[in-house]
Amino acid sequence: MFVLPGDRIGCVEEFEFGEGVYEENGELYASVAGKVVFEGRRVRIEPINRIPKLKSGDVIVGKVVDVRGSIALVKLERKIGHDRVLTKSSIGVLHVSNVRDEFLKDLESAFRFGDIVKARILDENLRLSTKGKDLGVIKSKCRFCGEELVLDGDKLKCPKCGNVESRKISSDYGKGVL
Ligand SMILES: [Zn+2]
Repeated sequence: MFVLPGDRIGCVEEFEFGEGVYEENGELYASVAGKVVFEGRRVRIEPINRIPKLKSGDVIVGKVVDVRGSIALVKLERKIGHDRVLTKSSIGVLHVSNVRDEFLKDLESAFRFGDIVKARILDENLRLSTKGKDLGVIKSKCRFCGEELVLDGDKLKCPKCGNVESRKISSDYGKGVL
């Protein structure tokens, strides 16, 4: 059972109470958000681990959920350096001008739907940048057969059907979990 601060847990006649629980007029309430743990007659609350907050400069891993015109939308999934998944579904915006240092005309030559990307957060509006060697696509699938693409020079190649695709590739491409 998950509770929020102020949620009633029970009363002092029922339970002895430990961390994360407070008593008021014989009633027990949660003082933190978390999971209720019963140990015999004792009740305590195991706090939910904090979800990392996002700020500019943070590097995230996300999934491209849309590419339209000059903008790619990226669902932010994880902050680098944190195990916790970002549960609040936040969408970052990557503009074609923030993909790489050199001019890029066609965003679809750098990102496609479903790509897993590593990007830096530019501001609190969750604008993203993939400028820099280690930023860009880290995992991608063949658009024809769905096989995972592998590095082939500065392109990505499908080991199954031979299809070659171009991307803004991160130097971490194919290295798995970061
Ligand atoms: Zn293929």
